[in-house]
Amino acid sequence: MTGIFFATPSEKCTRYWVLSGFSIGTGILITVLNGGAPRPALLIIGNSILILGVVLQWSGIRAFYKKPLGYAGWIIAAIFFVVYCALLLQEAPARHRVILLSAVMLSLLILYFHEIWTSQKRHTFASMLSLGAVVLLGIDYVFRFSIMAFKYAVSLPTTNSLLSITLTYLIPTAGTMLLSFGLLLLYFERIVADKHHLATHDDLTGLFNRRAIVAAGEREVSVALRMKRPLAVAFVDIDFFKQINDKHGHHTGDRVLVEVAQVLTRTCRGIDLAGRYGGEEFCIILPGMEQDDLPVVGERLVSAVCHHNFPDAGSVTISIGLATLAADERECSWAGLIRKADAELYKAKAAGRNCYSMAAVNRQDLAATA
Ligand code: GH3
Ligand code: MG
Ligand code: MG
Repeated sequence: MTGIFFATPSEKCTRYWVLSGFSIGTGILITVLNGGAPRPALLIIGNSILILGVVLQWSGIRAFYKKPLGYAGWIIAAIFFVVYCALLLQEAPARHRVILLSAVMLSLLILYFHEIWTSQKRHTFASMLSLGAVVLLGIDYVFRFSIMAFKYAVSLPTTNSLLSITLTYLIPTAGTMLLSFGLLLLYFERIVADKHHLATHDDLTGLFNRRAIVAAGEREVSVALRMKRPLAVAFVDIDFFKQINDKHGHHTGDRVLVEVAQVLTRTCRGIDLAGRYGGEEFCIILPGMEQDDLPVVGERLVSAVCHHNFPDAGSVTISIGLATLAADERECSWAGLIRKADAELYKAKAAGRNCYSMAAVNRQDLAATA
C-alpha cells in the first residue's frame, strides 16, 4: 500500500488505504505488546488506532467509488471509543471489551460489504476477492463475539489455545491481507478500464474515437459478410461549422459538437455504433440496416438535429452520406464503404446541405426538414 501511495500520490483512495495500513498495524502492535500486562491507556490507544484504521479503509473504499466522505463509520468509531473507555473505567471483565470490539468490527465490515456490493456495476474477480475477504473477517468476528458472549471458558485473546490464535491472529491477518490485495486489484482493474476508455473514446463527446469506430467498422463488415447480413454506414458532417466557431467562439462550437453527438446517439438504435471521426464529422455504423430502410434513418437524423434547440448557437444542421455494404461488390471493405459514404456526403453538401444522400441506388433524396 505504501508503494502504491508513492506510485500514485494524487489518488485519494490509496492515501486513505496507506493511512489505514499504518493505523491498523500500529494499533495491533500496541495491543499485542501490551497483551501480557494490560495498561488501560495503551489498551484505549491501541484499540482506538485499530478502529481508526478500519474506518480509514472504509473511507478509502468510498473514495474509490467516488462517494463523498461518509459519517456512519466515524459514528461507530466514536461509540466504540466512549463505550470502551466506560468499560475500562468500570473495570468490566476483558471479555466485554472483546464483545464490544467484535460487534464494532462486524458493523464496520457490514459497511465495507455494502459499499463494494452496491457500488460495483459488475462484479469482477477483484470485487469478489474483496467481498470474500470481508465475509471471512466477518465470520471470524461472529465467532469471537459468540465465544465471548456464550462460551467464555474457551479462551481470551491472550491465551495460547489454537482456536484463540486462529481467531485472533491467523484469520484476521489472512483476511486483512486478502482484503488489501482485493482492493489493490480493484484499483488495478479501474486503471485498465480507464486506459481502455481513454484509448477508445473521444473525450469531448464521449463517443467512440476514430480508432475505435474504424476497428468496430472493420469487425462489423467481416461479421456482415460472414453472416450475409446487411450493413450500412452514415457519415455525418455539421454544416457551416466554421461559421458557428467564428460567430459564437470555440467554446460554443464544442458545446454544439457535444449536443449533436447526444442527438445522434439518442436518435440511433441501441445496436448502432456512433463515433466522432474527426473535427465536426461523425460516423454511425448501422448493423443489419437494409437499403430500403436507410431513407427513414437519414431523414430522422437530419430532422432530429435540425429541430434540436441549441441554446448558444441557434439552429444547426447536418448533412449525411449514407452507404450500404454490397456483398457482391468487389471491394467489400470498411475503407470502401466509408469512401462511398464520404462521396455521398459531398453530394449532400452540393445539394444544399441539411439533407442526406444515398449510395448504391444512386438516389439523392432530400429530406424535408423545415
Ligand atoms: P461545411 O458545411 O462545408 O462542412 O463547412 P464547415 O464550416 O462545417 O467545414 P470546414 O471544414 O470549413 O470547417 C470545420 C471547422 O471545424 C474548422 C475547425 O476549426 C472546426 N473544428 C474542428 N474540430 C473542432 C473542435 O474540436 N472544436 C471546435 N470548436 N471546432 C472544431
Ligand atoms: Mg468537415
Ligand atoms: Mg462541416
